[in-house]
Amino acid sequence: MAFKEKVFSGVQPTGNLHLGNYLGAIKKFVELQDSHECIYCVVDLHAITVWQDPAELRRTIREVTAAFLACGIDPKRHIIFNQSQVSEHAELAWVFNCVARLGWLNRMTQFKEKAGKDRENASAGLYVYPTLMAADILAYRATHVPVGEDQKQHLELARDIAQKFNNDFGDEIRAQGFGDAFFPLPAPLIQGPATRVMSLRDGTKKMSKSDPSDQSRINLTDDADAIALKVRRAKTDPHPLPDDPKDLAARPEADNLVGIYAALDGRTKDDVLGTFGGGQFSTFKSALVDLAVTKLGPIGAEMKRLMQDEAHIDAVLADGAARARTQARETMNAVKDIVGFVRGE
Ligand code: ATP
Ligand code: MG
Repeated sequence: MAFKEKVFSGVQPTGNLHLGNYLGAIKKFVELQDSHECIYCVVDLHAITVWQDPAELRRTIREVTAAFLACGIDPKRHIIFNQSQVSEHAELAWVFNCVARLGWLNRMTQFKEKAGKDRENASAGLYVYPTLMAADILAYRATHVPVGEDQKQHLELARDIAQKFNNDFGDEIRAQGFGDAFFPLPAPLIQGPATRVMSLRDGTKKMSKSDPSDQSRINLTDDADAIALKVRRAKTDPHPLPDDPKDLAARPEADNLVGIYAALDGRTKDDVLGTFGGGQFSTFKSALVDLAVTKLGPIGAEMKRLMQDEAHIDAVLADGAARARTQARETMNAVKDIVGFVRGE
C-alpha cells in the first residue's frame, strides 16, 4: 500500500534553542510546508526523561512554540502542538514497548551518552525514549521526518518497530482491510551542510541545549553582541581556510564554521570556500557574524515579542492539539483493533 506523504518532527523543551536546532531541524520544517502536510510537536513527554523544573518547563514549551512561529511555521495550514495534550502518543508508545526488543534499545548511543557513567540512576523513560519517538511519528502514520544527524539511529529504530508491527500482526492487518502494512517505514530527511552543528568550543562535540557552557552555542534568542562575541571566540586552528573542501575533513572547527555559513546562506561548503578559501579566519568570522545576525536577529526578536502573549501561544497549542488528536485517535483505534483489544467506541 502506498502511504500518503506526511511530515512529522519534534523539538524538546529542554532549554535554550540553538543554531543546531535551527539549521538541523526547524529551518527544514519551514521549507517542507509548501510541499507537504506537516505536524510539528513540542515534545514535552520526552523532556521529562531528565529532570525539568516545572515552572521552567512551562516557559520552554511556550518558547519552542514561539520559535516555530517566529521561524515561519504556519499553525493554520499545518499543526503545531505539545505532545502531552495528545495522550495517544503515550498510549501507542506502550504498545511499541511491547514490540521493540531490549537488544534494540541497548544499542542506542543517545541513551549511553545521556545516562553517562551512572546508568543505574537514569530514568526508565530515558531508556525507552526511542519507542515514544516511534509512537510520535507513527501515531500520524507519517512518512518523512526532518531531523539532525544525531537522530538517525532513533529513526532506524522507528522503522524497525513499524516493520515488526506490520509483520507480527500481518494477518489481522489484512483481515481489517489495511493491506499488507499498517505503518509506513518513516524516512529521515537529513540533508545539507549543517546536519550536525558542533560546539563552538569543541569541534568534536555536538552543539547542544544541555552543554553547561553558553559559549558553546548560539542561542536563537542571543542578541547581535552575544552572537558576535561567540563567533569571534569560536575555536579555530592556526591555518588559513582551505580552498579544497576535502581539506576540511581533518579540521573539525573550520568544517563546522564553514558548514554553518553555508547553511545560513543557502549555499554549499564548496561555494563558501570559493569565496573565503585561502583567507584568514578573522575575515571569515566577521562575515559570519554579519550573516548570523541578519538571519537570526529577526527570529530572536519575534520570539521575544510572541513570548509576551502567553494566551496566544496556548491557543495555538490547543488548536493544534485538537486537530492532532483526531488523527492520532484514528490510528490508535485501528491499532487496538489490530492488536486484539476490545473497545466500546
Ligand atoms: P538535548 O540536549 O536536550 O537533547 P538538543 O539540542 O539535542 O537538546 P532536541 O530537542 O533533542 O535538541 O532536538 C531537536 C532537533 O534538533 C532534532 O531534530 C535534532 O536532531 C536537532 N539537533 C539537535 N542538535 C543539533 C545539532 N547540533 N546540529 C544539527 N541538528 C541538531
Ligand atoms: Mg537531543
